[in-house]
Amino acid sequence: MILLDRVSKVYGKEVAALDRISLHVEQDEFVIIIGSSGAGKSTLLKLLTREEKQSSGKIVIGNIDYDKLKDKEIPYLRRKIGVVFQDFKLLPNKNVFENVAFALEIVGHSNREIKHTVPKVLNVVGLRGKEKRMPAELSGGERQRVSIARAIVRQPKILVADEPTGNLDPRHAWDIIRILEKINRFGTTVLLTTHNQEIVNKLKRRVVTLQDGRIISDKAHGEYT
Ligand code: ADP
Repeated sequence: MILLDRVSKVYGKEVAALDRISLHVEQDEFVIIIGSSGAGKSTLLKLLTREEKQSSGKIVIGNIDYDKLKDKEIPYLRRKIGVVFQDFKLLPNKNVFENVAFALEIVGHSNREIKHTVPKVLNVVGLRGKEKRMPAELSGGERQRVSIARAIVRQPKILVADEPTGNLDPRHAWDIIRILEKINRFGTTVLLTTHNQEIVNKLKRRVVTLQDGRIISDKAHGEYT
């Protein structure tokens, strides 16, 4: 469960990137966040991952109240939220398996656990058999699938996907969307930002529209406006 209550974010002195946003997202939801450039989409996602701190208002994710969050608890929060970026952010010197395994290594999983878990996750994203490929040997769509595998390998409650199809051709873009839907069916909340009108209109999911830091519409089966 994600709860935002009158959340604002002001950068520096002047720019109100978000202005009293209130939003409630249930665990089983798939929510698309749209809005033109500068509307506040990235800021909203950065507040959730605690890359940025809200200037005012309340943020609660599951049982975590962001006002009470101590710095040493931030890694625990980040395990609950997987993030996928437009530009993949893979480690170029590690192969597919190692890129995904790394997310487990840094939080102290054993080799045995890693060998057990990584193949399962690569299966979810359709990359079995490509474990030894390097990122440079993959298509854009495959790279994004590695990045999704890495984001879900610690079984987060929430998957945040910031323009994950922005660098992909339409066929690969839809592959990615179908994988996000599958992950959502497994019980993970998905928050997706996109500028892709066709994806928004065909998915018929909840659409939250941001404009100048405010939510101007929130529709259950929304369309791109
Ligand atoms: P979007 O993701 O919808 O394009 P952003 O959240 O990136 O929107 O930006 C919202 C507003 O906040 C914009 O006016 C942008 O210039 C401003 N902004 C974003 N990040 C920063 C920052 N680190 N410092 C100052 N202003 C910022």
